[in-house]
Parts: sequence; C-alpha cells; structure tokens
Amino acid sequence: MKNQFISSLLFTLAVLVFFSGCEYRVSDKNLKHIEVTDNNRTFYEIFVGAFSDSNKDGTGDLRGIINRLDYLNNGKPDSGKSLGIEGIWLTPIMPSPSYHKYDVIDYYRIDSKFGTMADFEELAAQCNKRGIKLIIDLVLNHTSSQNQWFLDAKSSVKQGNLDDPIVKYYVLETERISGRTWYEFEKSPDGRQYYYEGNFSPQMPELDLDNPDVRREIINIVKFWLDKGAGGFRLDAVSYIYFKEDFRNIQFLKWFNDECVKINNDVYIVAENWSGVMSVQNYYEAVNCFDFVMSGASGDIYNTVTGISNVTEFAQRLALYQKQVMTINPHAVLHPFITNHDMDRAAGFLPVSDYIMHIAANLYILSGGSPFIYYGEEIGMKGSRGSANTDANRRLAMLWGDNDTVKDPEGASYDSANQTNGTVKSQLSKNDSLLNHYKKLIRLRNANPEIARGIIEPLNFSQYTTFGGFISDYNGSKAAVFHNTGANEVNIDLSLYTDVNFFVLRGFAGAGSASLVKNILTLSGYTSAVLK
Ligand code: CA
Repeated sequence: MKNQFISSLLFTLAVLVFFSGCEYRVSDKNLKHIEVTDNNRTFYEIFVGAFSDSNKDGTGDLRGIINRLDYLNNGKPDSGKSLGIEGIWLTPIMPSPSYHKYDVIDYYRIDSKFGTMADFEELAAQCNKRGIKLIIDLVLNHTSSQNQWFLDAKSSVKQGNLDDPIVKYYVLETERISGRTWYEFEKSPDGRQYYYEGNFSPQMPELDLDNPDVRREIINIVKFWLDKGAGGFRLDAVSYIYFKEDFRNIQFLKWFNDECVKINNDVYIVAENWSGVMSVQNYYEAVNCFDFVMSGASGDIYNTVTGISNVTEFAQRLALYQKQVMTINPHAVLHPFITNHDMDRAAGFLPVSDYIMHIAANLYILSGGSPFIYYGEEIGMKGSRGSANTDANRRLAMLWGDNDTVKDPEGASYDSANQTNGTVKSQLSKNDSLLNHYKKLIRLRNANPEIARGIIEPLNFSQYTTFGGFISDYNGSKAAVFHNTGANEVNIDLSLYTDVNFFVLRGFAGAGSASLVKNILTLSGYTSAVLK
C-alpha cells in the first residue's frame, strides 16, 4: 500500500512538473507545441496511389510521399508552416493486382507501382526523424487470388497433394456452407470438387487463421515490417476474420496484439470494425478501433453540425462512448474521424464556404484520442460514389495545384468541375482557408495535452442547440472545449453551468474568435475555444 501511495504521489508530482513546464498563452498565434510522448496523435490517412507522383507515371508512390513530408510535418511544430500531423496511415503498399491493393500478392514486398523497399525504409526513417508514427495497412482476412500461396494450394489439390501444408492456408470445403460465400476452387484427382471461402469477392480468398502455419506467417510479416521501420498497423475488416463471429475475432486480435507487443512494445494498432457501438466496444478488449458512429453523412458529427442533435448531446455521446470503451479496456484510446477511403468525402455534404467543414473538423479533432484525417479533407476535396457506384471517386488525386502529375485512380468518373474549394496551393495563401484552419486546429489540440488524453465530462447546455462543450480531465489538470456550431455569436456565463472556474482562454479555431472576461465566454459562430 505504502509503495502504491508513494508511486501515485510521484506520478502526481511528475504530472504537476510536466504541466507547470508547459507554456500557456492566451493568443492562439503563439501556441507552443508539446512533445508527443504516447500514441494520442493526429493521424493522416494516405491513399498511396492518389497522393503524390514522383516519377510521372500518374500513380502516387512512396517517393511522392517523401517529397511531401514538409507539407505534412516539417519537423518544426512551432513554425506553423506544415499541417502538423504526427501519424501517417498508408493504405496497402504490398504487390496487388487492384488499384486499391486490398488483395495482397506478396506480404514481403512493395508494389512496384509504389516504388521500392529502399523508398519505404527512407520514408520510415524520415517519419521517425520528424516524430511521425508511420503505420501500414495490413490485410489478413484474405489474400489476392494471384498470391503464390493460393496458386500453389490450387496445384496441390489438383495433383491430389492434399497434405501439402500450403493447401491448409485457405478455408476450403467440399461443399458450400450456408451463410458464407464460396467459389469453385479445384477438383482433386478422385473427382472431388473443392470450394474456397471468399466473402468479399472471388479475387479475395480467405485465409484459415486457425492454422498455426498461417499464424507463424503473420508473426513473420509483422516482424518484417516493424524491422523495416513501420510503427504499427491498421487492421482491415476485423469483423470478417472469422465471418462475423465477434468472440473469435477478439481472441484472434488479442493474440495478434500480444505477438506485436512482444516484438516491439511501442507498436501502434488500430482496427477497422464497421459495426454498431455495442459490437465495436467489445473489440477494445484486444485493440483500439475507429469510431465509425461519429463519421459519415449520417454520423454524430453530421447530426451535430446540421442541428439534428444539439452540442450537449454530442458531448454526452462522446463521454459515454469513452466510458464504455474504457470500461472494457482502461487503456482504450478514441479514434474519431469524419471520413475515410470507403466513404463519400465530407466536403460533399458539409459546405466549406459556410464554415460547416471547419466546425465539423473541430468536433472530432478536439474530441481526444487519435483523430484520423483523410488526405484532401483539409482542403475540402469532394468525391462521392455517385450513380457510377465506384469507390474510386472517393479516392481522387490530391489537388496540389502545382506540377504534381498524380492522376485519379482507374474507374474514377467524378466531374472535376465539382471541386470548388481550391487546391493546397490556393489555400495556403488564404488566411481563412480550410487548410490553414486545420493547421491552427491541430496546433490548438497539441498545445493542450488534456484534450488528447483526458477523461471527458460533458457539460449540460441543453437549452442551446448550437452551443455546448465538455471538460477534459487529465489526472486532475482540466481543460474545457466549447463549440459554437451555429452562425451567430454567443455570450455565455459559464459560472451558471459548471463549478469549474476558467481563468485562461487557451485558444480558438473556426470562422471567428473567442474571448473570456471573468466567466463570460464570447464565441463567434462556427468557432470552438479551449479554456483552462
Ligand atoms: Ca508514380
């Protein structure tokens, strides 16, 4: 007990020293960056083939990303000259026949369209130097039907070598089991027809993840990429590992997490589980997951900025979600975002010209944990599946506005005349552009470590539709986030709503400004403020 008391006292002292060492200023122009020491980072998802092209073949590549690192994070966080993200998620980079590469031919190589392993190692080293955690997409549910494992399994079945270990890499049956999707595989010499499971498509045969050989292979893959400099993994489609069997999926993910931690205890893992809250929260027992409930054209962020629900309800839902996942796992970290490569782009349903995108970004980037920005979101790029029904429209070429030769992916049909929000180049020179807003917003977040790390306590402003906020309590150090999602300025006497006294306006971001006089907060429309 005594030891526990002393260690908790030492911890409290350490926290006090940490915070007293931080420089708190009123002006948002002088927000000082506080070094990231854990995984509460602002991430940036790059759809590799659509980001930046270094060799003029029209396809984005790893060298293109290296060339653009100064745009993302120039290693000088207080310069205000780069976006300031501290994590990058690369969509799959391994050889694949598809443009999206979510069907892997070889887990130990780089797709030649994206460059070489040396390019990857250089990118990883550059990221490391700048304090960026580089995570790569890992697709373990299925391989490509052109993967050598699959081709070898096929020829072994055909020759009757059913005991060949490679045959057992895949889920094969001699009849189609109902509830899952099967395709004809190969006939053995005795005339028996084999089928393989492929719940996504015939080109994506499912691996048998119960097979110890496959598990050993996965450990080798993890070791390989961590050794090359990856900081961790984004896991694709985890609810399909065992087709919609949550319990077995969670057991697999616990195993995966434990194996990764054995190799590198600083590994970063986040999982895609596009399901309801009740299902997702159980997965936190094993790994952190993206908060899909918040995202998309009907999620919490959309509902809040369009007035379908009020800001107090937003804060309450956020706090409840955090509480639920932290009950499952006390180390759980929120992963809020608004869109990713599988969703219509946010600027298509949230107008940039009316500052709705600005305030939507505030809602999730000031929510805590590790927010994920989808490349191009920061310049209000548009792109939707549309009547052409193609995801390529959600993964269009980054609009640099300079001589970058990156082109839209194959199958894209989005009318570029709809891209009315400008380019990186045009927005850099405009003070109130969405891009400059994101830069300011990330700095505001980083200068107030309670936001990323604290326990969220919602405040009750339910008589207001478009004003509300919460306190973020990080080991007793409290910061508060207030949002005004409406067009009109508000003047709020905070002493009527909270017993916490706020003394300092730490900064603001949005369409206007903020001031704090005694306990009266004045907040412009479409603006958020951080108080202490
Ligand atoms: Ca290229």
